[in-house]
Amino acid sequence: MADGIETESRKLLGRLRDAMASDDAGQARLDKITHLIASSMGCEVCSIYLFRDEDTLELCATEGLKADAVHETRMKMGEGLVGRVAKRKRIINTPNAPQAPGFRFMPETGEELYSSFLGIPVQRLGEMLGVLVVQSKAAREFSADEVYALEVVAMVLAEMTELGAFVGEGAAMSARHSQAVLIRGTVAQEGVAEGHVWLHEPRVVVSKLVADDPASETARLNEAVDDLRVSVDQMMAMAGGDKDQQQVLEAYRMFANSKGWLRRMEEDIGRGLSAEAAVEKEQSLARARMGQAADAYLRERLSDLDDLSNRLLRILTGQGSNTGAEMPTDPILVARNIGPAELLEYGRSLRGIVLEGGSVGSHAAIVARALAIPLIVHASRVTNDALNGDRIMVDGEQGVVHLRPEETVASAFRDKIAMQAEAQERYASIRDKPAITKCGTRVGLHMNAGLMADLPSLDGSGAEGVGLFRTELQFLVRSQMPKRSELSALYSRVLDAASGKRVVFRTLDIGSDKVLPYMKPNDEPNPALGWRAIRVGLDKPGMMRMQLQALIRAANGRPLSVMFPFVAQFEEYRAARAEMDKTLAREARLGHVLPSQIEVGAMLETPSLAFAPTKFFEEVEFLSIGGNDLKQFFFAADRENELVRRRYDTLNVSFLTFLENIVDRCRETGTPLSFCGEDAGRPIEALCFAAIGITTLSMRPASIGPVKSMLHRSDLGEIREVIHAARDRGDQSVRPAVMEYLRSQTNEVRRLP
Ligand code: PEP
Ligand code: MG
Repeated sequence: MADGIETESRKLLGRLRDAMASDDAGQARLDKITHLIASSMGCEVCSIYLFRDEDTLELCATEGLKADAVHETRMKMGEGLVGRVAKRKRIINTPNAPQAPGFRFMPETGEELYSSFLGIPVQRLGEMLGVLVVQSKAAREFSADEVYALEVVAMVLAEMTELGAFVGEGAAMSARHSQAVLIRGTVAQEGVAEGHVWLHEPRVVVSKLVADDPASETARLNEAVDDLRVSVDQMMAMAGGDKDQQQVLEAYRMFANSKGWLRRMEEDIGRGLSAEAAVEKEQSLARARMGQAADAYLRERLSDLDDLSNRLLRILTGQGSNTGAEMPTDPILVARNIGPAELLEYGRSLRGIVLEGGSVGSHAAIVARALAIPLIVHASRVTNDALNGDRIMVDGEQGVVHLRPEETVASAFRDKIAMQAEAQERYASIRDKPAITKCGTRVGLHMNAGLMADLPSLDGSGAEGVGLFRTELQFLVRSQMPKRSELSALYSRVLDAASGKRVVFRTLDIGSDKVLPYMKPNDEPNPALGWRAIRVGLDKPGMMRMQLQALIRAANGRPLSVMFPFVAQFEEYRAARAEMDKTLAREARLGHVLPSQIEVGAMLETPSLAFAPTKFFEEVEFLSIGGNDLKQFFFAADRENELVRRRYDTLNVSFLTFLENIVDRCRETGTPLSFCGEDAGRPIEALCFAAIGITTLSMRPASIGPVKSMLHRSDLGEIREVIHAARDRGDQSVRPAVMEYLRSQTNEVRRLP
């Protein structure tokens, strides 16, 4: 690269920096910049187009086109050469623009026929913000060096746009980060919340973009890269023998030592960028490629490079994850993804959580559910759009996030929160009343739990006990296998907190989506149908025995209820029960106090168990329907797969009939039956379950009020008739008929004097 060009681009950047530092209003800055670029490049025209909304570009400043056209001329993504640059995120460099595919003549701009056109995407970290264009009458193709210099300028422009340098009165563009944004995601935990953004990993803010002294910037960069290499080596040493982690770190090491990477950044510094701006330029390129790479392996490596660039930026700017910002009093956590342990550390201080990735069944979702914090997953681009401290509203009913909402949206949302609060108050007033229906049936309402943090809800919600304590959560949120003594102490505290109310401990349900961080995952072709839950417990009885011992010791003379998950056939229950009896005998021999009473049940989560021999129903001491799993196997529809998980209604006639058969079998043998899947917490579903005879339900604590209120108002005999009539008519689901019935009831109540 010629030194002359380097000096030219450095000069241009130096002048740009002066324009940036000036006190001018946003528009004046933009005007000055277009003037500077046109004169430095020897072109008649330089224009800056920025996005007005997601797919509209607006001419925001120009040197050479009609001043009247500024803020008037707009084009859609893909329209004309400018729109094409934006759509493809690629440079167009042509000496003969009118002949180029997609060319559109825009007389409204006073455009003469300019022959040459160079359009450069203005993007930051792979995100398109606008297009920078230079045009000249003379037919010439811009040289690689000129293109390169303008690319650097475009990057600086992108940074300035992000930093709000062009925000001003009236005509100027508003900064992206001050606009209202609506993001659609998927609900992983219901609830509504308002608060302020707290970024789990705050983005690095690069405010020094241009530098005069390339030698000292290069030295800073080299020093930072050396530090980075040392830190990668340290991470490798810490990773020990973990092969997967070693592999990722190998890739990190390769990038950190890549000569090409360093050389490109040094060249950018030579052109006038600061060390951090040079790193960010490479990062932007990697992000843009990441968006286009079809190959999963390549995408992963580019994402490694992205992470490495972030680390390098933190070293250069001195900004750690801790930026010194203060956590707002009403934080809504925004992150790409988060692990369960990290989420637990935040605990109940969070009002809501919004994740770019994640999944409905992820560990983070399990923890959010336990803490009853509204959670939206798959909220695309949220970490790009949100800044620390932004106002944010989470609608965990519609699966929508409002970032920096307009006042009208905010007030409508607040009405919704107020309505919920009102309903909560109504529920609080019936908290200590039993759930007895209008026809006099008593329904037992219990809560699901899994963490110590859940237990305060036992009193707050009015639950009669814990119908499902998911013990795997304690294993999932740790980085090491918990010891027997730790588990026993924890279970004992759970029983203390329950103060005599029944707690049903479910033994470890790992496998499928619940992979322990310290256990090597099995590469199973279909984990939901694989080696999980009781199957693991029976094949590797050591862990099961240890857990049973911990439970017996925790009970220490108090009653104990244990249930085994995912029992698919009688023999599995028998084997697990035998394990329990052996453990009890051994504990007695060791001199431990045995539980005063012990009941051992099973979860009915596979259709096969519904058809087990009558002897099984006689032997098992209680059954709890795990509707989440049972439904996925009944309909062969993955509970984690967004494409199918809502496809079949729980109130589908086939499924209800199947549940009725289970009720009948339990009735014949006098086996206590409950339902503990998520559907138990949905009022209409709960009502139908009670109507068909499932009168013990276990649910999220927050659902107890709404379900109880629905039961208080209902006559199960009438609901049963509605269900039977729907089935006789051949309805696919009983939901429409039940809804219609409930609506008519409400109208009737309204008509009463
Ligand atoms: C179920 O499957 O319904 C259940 C309660 O268990 P989990 O959701 O933990 O699999
Ligand atoms: Mg289950």
